[in-house]
Amino acid sequence: MSKTLALTDSVNSIKGIGDKKADRLGVLGIRTVQDLLNHFPYKYKDKRQAVMSSRATEQKDALVVGTLNRISSRPIGGRKMLVECSFKDVGGTYTAVFFNRPYLKQSLRVGQEYSIYGRVKIRAGFRSWANPEIAEAGGDKDRRGIVPVYRCTQGLTSNDIGKWAEYVLANVDLGTDWIDEKYLSERGVCDREFAYRNLHFPESEAHYKTARYRMIYEQLLIYQLAVRLNRKDIDDSSIGSAIEDVDIGPFASGLPFALTEGQLECIRDIERDLVDGRPMNRLVQGDVGCGKTVVAEAAIYKCVRAGLQAAMMAPTEILARQHFERLSEDFAPYGLRCCLLVSGMKAAERRETLACIADGNVDVIIGTHAIIQDDVVYNNLGLVITDEQHRFGVNQRKSLVNKGNAVNVCVMSATPIPRTLAATVFGDMDFSIIRSKPANRLEIITKAVGPESRERAYTAVRDQLKSGHQAYVIAPSIDSEDDDLSSVEALYDELTAKFSEFKVALIHGRLDKDEKEAIMKKFADGKIDVLVATVVIEVGIDVPNATVIVLENSERYGLAQMHQLRGRVGRSKFQSYCYLINYSRSESAVARAEAMVSIKDGFEISEEDYRLRGPGDIMGTMQSGNYQSNIISLCRYQEILDIAIEDAGRILSEDNTTDIDYVRQYLAGVDDNSDII
Ligand code: ADP
Ligand code: MG
Repeated sequence: MSKTLALTDSVNSIKGIGDKKADRLGVLGIRTVQDLLNHFPYKYKDKRQAVMSSRATEQKDALVVGTLNRISSRPIGGRKMLVECSFKDVGGTYTAVFFNRPYLKQSLRVGQEYSIYGRVKIRAGFRSWANPEIAEAGGDKDRRGIVPVYRCTQGLTSNDIGKWAEYVLANVDLGTDWIDEKYLSERGVCDREFAYRNLHFPESEAHYKTARYRMIYEQLLIYQLAVRLNRKDIDDSSIGSAIEDVDIGPFASGLPFALTEGQLECIRDIERDLVDGRPMNRLVQGDVGCGKTVVAEAAIYKCVRAGLQAAMMAPTEILARQHFERLSEDFAPYGLRCCLLVSGMKAAERRETLACIADGNVDVIIGTHAIIQDDVVYNNLGLVITDEQHRFGVNQRKSLVNKGNAVNVCVMSATPIPRTLAATVFGDMDFSIIRSKPANRLEIITKAVGPESRERAYTAVRDQLKSGHQAYVIAPSIDSEDDDLSSVEALYDELTAKFSEFKVALIHGRLDKDEKEAIMKKFADGKIDVLVATVVIEVGIDVPNATVIVLENSERYGLAQMHQLRGRVGRSKFQSYCYLINYSRSESAVARAEAMVSIKDGFEISEEDYRLRGPGDIMGTMQSGNYQSNIISLCRYQEILDIAIEDAGRILSEDNTTDIDYVRQYLAGVDDNSDII
């Protein structure tokens, strides 16, 4: 039979998919045949073999086949209907009850054999199933084998997706494997067809494991190759990246504080990169509050004094504005001209700013992602600094390097990731780590409390406010796009009443930009005492007079995120406090709260975070749509990672038939502009 489907074909070419279904699939991010193949089941039902009912074990899923010998129904709770069945097989009798499926009373026939599948309950030796799947034994619906369960969406069932996956597997032309046969056989890695078939419809557990191994190996290999190709492209574009070796002494001695050892070391790394012939591609990691901004400033100073432009990119507009104000002030004595470029500017203002950038009438360009858009033409860009790199993927890193003529790139991150992981995920970069903190800092006192001790947290807030300091209260929200507004607002109302003698304000992602900006400015100027906020303030905000932060519903936050939030305080010589109000007794929420109380170092936090998260179900989570976090999850398979790293090196240095273009194409199709942690 000839294989008629291509991986790049739209899902419309799959039998049974029309515009409506295609549209539904689009909701899951599935547009092509390849996407559908990559939509792996998140779990499986083992329906290989029916067991005798008396062998079904408590609280486990089991498939049993027996004859229906009695059926009855009765109404429960108003209009709902309960159908009760009794079956018999060689193991004895057992029952199944069905809620809200009244039609079963008509369709099931006494004396007929049925298979049921679901979780067993045993009471007094008697087995029962609640709401199991039911099918006529031997009929079309009585599917046997290891049955995949897919993540779906409204208008689609897991069965639909399974059917289509089956059709694709029978009809798709997978082409030649992009990985050289040599590596596959040497590593005992299966081919693509085997892998896809057994991830969707595993013949056995062993087949499934072999298939999964291939997918993990393949993903890690692609990523390793991509990272190395990036590195090579950067090294090859080395002409013209060296800048004149300007002394940064005047800038450093003009600062109101002495630089820490860590800051100095990092600045030295950067200076070395700037003056050697290769474009800088450096990741600076340093815990919240260690003072990364001033390191960025030193680099910018050096670059601009050498006659080039420098750009600084922040993940949010609030942060971009904060940097703009800070840099404008700090650079004013040296005559460096700064401008702000964000997406929401008025057309005329934007046009004028772009003209200044193109003509070289500004030296330092500060903004959001807007600064790397295609319409921004630089006069002579020599350095790009990106702050809070965790929103910055491998594709972005590359597009930046291509932006100017061998631009120097420095990425700053306050979300430390474990060292070996960093070397893998950011293998195309050099690293600097700032370990020290400014000398005047006290450790932040962190307390985790349950709802019954919540008032203690607010007493501490009041104490801080009375002594002239400011406070953050972080309200629960699912994420910054999708604010759980009612709870933020309820909290705001509560705190406005509670702290009636102080100024309380609310900030969240749905306010318009001008409002947000005005509120942040007032808070920074000390005109607001308590800022009730969603995680919009998570990264980078620097208001040293704020000395206490309360995280409501701390169980909703990840460890790394809580550490980031905590870093909003402890930015001055004053003692600071962080209160976690935990409403959950779940083991993981408690473990995270405990980790926050006992661990203050961001690097240790990240190791712990990584450990607490555990590997999870890999193939199922691979579809989260977040490329970098998928890669990070895969890195937990240390042995496969080691092999992938080794093979990537060999593939690039040896002559073989591994298809490198496939890697470039694959990567170009990946959306990696999202948080990695
Ligand atoms: P982060 O690393 O989290 O981005 P910032 O650069 O915002 O930290 O710095 C935090 C605060 O520490 C700022 O108010 C900054 O002025 C101050 N700071 C930075 N370096 C030093 C230092 N060496 N000594 C004292 N204070 C410093
Ligand atoms: Mg910062």
